[in-house]
Amino acid sequence: MPQVTTSEVTRGGAFLIQATPAERIFIPEEWNEEQRQLAQLCEDFLEKEIYPRLDEIDYGDPTQVMPEILRKAAELGFLGLTVPEAYGGLGADFLTGMLFTEKMGPSHSFAVALLAHTGIGTLPILYFGTPEQKAKYLPKIVTGELFAAYCLTEPGSGSDALGARTKAIPTADGKAYQLTGQKMWITNGGFADLFTVFAKVNGEQFTAFLVERSFPGVSVGAEEKKMGIKGSSTRQVFFQETPVPVENVLGEIGKGHVIAFNILNIGRIKLAAATTGSCKRLVDVCVRYAKERHQFNRPIASFGAIQHKLADMAIYTWASETATYRASADIQAYEKYLLDQGQPYEKALLGAAQEYAAECAILKVFGSEALDYVADEAVQIHGGYGYSAEYPVERAYRDSRINRIYEGTNEINRMLSVDYLLRKAMKGELDLLSAAMKVQGELMSIPEFGDANGAFLATEKKAVENLKKAILMVAGFSAQKYMQKLADEQEVLMAIADMLIDTYVVESMLLRTEKIAQRNGESAATDALAMTQAFLVDAQERTASAGRRAILHVAEGDERRVLLMGLKRFTKPLEVDTVALRRQIAEKLISAEKYCF
Ligand SMILES: Cc1cc2nc3c(=O)[nH]c(=O)nc-3n(C[C@H](O)[C@H](O)[C@H](O)COP(=O)(O)OP(=O)(O)OC[C@H]3O[C@@H](n4cnc5c(N)ncnc54)[C@H](O)[C@@H]3O)c2cc1C
Repeated sequence: MPQVTTSEVTRGGAFLIQATPAERIFIPEEWNEEQRQLAQLCEDFLEKEIYPRLDEIDYGDPTQVMPEILRKAAELGFLGLTVPEAYGGLGADFLTGMLFTEKMGPSHSFAVALLAHTGIGTLPILYFGTPEQKAKYLPKIVTGELFAAYCLTEPGSGSDALGARTKAIPTADGKAYQLTGQKMWITNGGFADLFTVFAKVNGEQFTAFLVERSFPGVSVGAEEKKMGIKGSSTRQVFFQETPVPVENVLGEIGKGHVIAFNILNIGRIKLAAATTGSCKRLVDVCVRYAKERHQFNRPIASFGAIQHKLADMAIYTWASETATYRASADIQAYEKYLLDQGQPYEKALLGAAQEYAAECAILKVFGSEALDYVADEAVQIHGGYGYSAEYPVERAYRDSRINRIYEGTNEINRMLSVDYLLRKAMKGELDLLSAAMKVQGELMSIPEFGDANGAFLATEKKAVENLKKAILMVAGFSAQKYMQKLADEQEVLMAIADMLIDTYVVESMLLRTEKIAQRNGESAATDALAMTQAFLVDAQERTASAGRRAILHVAEGDERRVLLMGLKRFTKPLEVDTVALRRQIAEKLISAEKYCF
């Protein structure tokens, strides 16, 4: 296999300070035949095993139904898709694993159980386990002989995960640790056989342990009564002087945070793939409903207000898909780069996900909020029927809400997305300072109003470049003003994060549009262009609003005036008829009777 050179990999966060050539990004139009077959296999599985059983899954005993379906998934290799063949898995690459996650996304509670088992349940062992731990547990995890869960959260520590109180006391003979504590909200808690548990050795050193359910002193609470994902088992897990042999320490003593945080990066981008899949299904359901449902002697799909909603749902879905696979392919390329540098397999993917930690946080927020928006509009399109448990959108609405809470709340992820970039800048990995200084210089110069040259996408490219300048301007000024204390200005960080999210997403849409045109001609990119333009106008408005909020807080007097003028210049809205663009998208959906982009 050819070596990947540094010039071929895009650094994490670099999107903010450099232009990415369209040919460098992966777009879903490039899925190969094998990947398309896998997608079909997943869809068939959901049609056969999940959709007819959604009520049984949600209202039956989660410790019976879920393990049974998970075992069926294991027979198809789904529990070990990306696990290396040496441990009984199929050894698929990261992008294929992401496609699988997208396809499983719409399976409601099943997706939660499956992705907890294959993600936070399996990955800590795969990436941090000793050869003995891997050989002992992974083959059984892949076949569904063992189900896995991840115990980080406690009643008193959620976002502040390192504040855990569960203790691990070394035994006198040095052969084991005794774990005592209480974990909360543990997915698969009712039936998992193996728990990755975070506890503090001697009350101080945060460490991960592999704890079997059969170990003495392990017990679980009752099922939590939840708003949604009712079929997924969520319980408290208790450890009462549970002896855990030293062989079951996962990773190093005192290095549990490395496991907890690295696994979360992957979990976040996977969540965006899963929510993308759920969005697609909701668009399918709504387009069909809007065609069938008649009011005033017309299908409701013929009303502009409904077409606007359908189009927006599709635009957010396409946006989420596009940005998620762009980052996924970047991670995969970086993983290969690290492997070629001689890094071991275990470190390569984690290192790659860490490199793109800001993008993972951005996608987690965007994906979960896109799905909430889509689910909300799905209920609205269904009117009163959307409020009925007899219709599928009611479940989707309840189930989508959790995504903004777990894998790090969206507030925490917003702050992390900015924090990761600033930290990269401080480490000298990302030259934000020069880029911000350049924008500052531009603010003092006479604006260059000469519009783009009329070439395909030239105006849109300039607009995206300007959004980046708006971020660099606001973030640069805020960082200069507050220095280390910027972390205390959370509202400003949130505003910067919102700008970052919109910019990363819309740039991804723009690049996908360009690549489609490069591959198949500009006429093949008409719908992609319409979606990109419609989203771009909204992104410009949101950036103007978030930027203004931040500037009015951080700057005063002349500085404030200069920044506000710059912001106005950098967010000057594209003059396009977004009503016509959305009608174009809606017409495509209505004639295809499904999500078709
Ligand atoms: C259904 C379900 C399944 C789950 N599965 C698992 C699992 O399998 N394993 C596991 O370990 N955990 C799991 N969790 C736990 C989940 O990860 C936590 O609920 C989540 O991290 C938030 O923690 P918390 O609930 O304690 O909220 P808190 O941390 O108390 O947050 C409350 C609010 O305060 C905000 N907030 C907190 N800190 C800050 C801050 N520094 N600045 C600004 N705002 C802040 C939050 O964003 C949030 O809005 C699950 C939770 C649920 C509901």
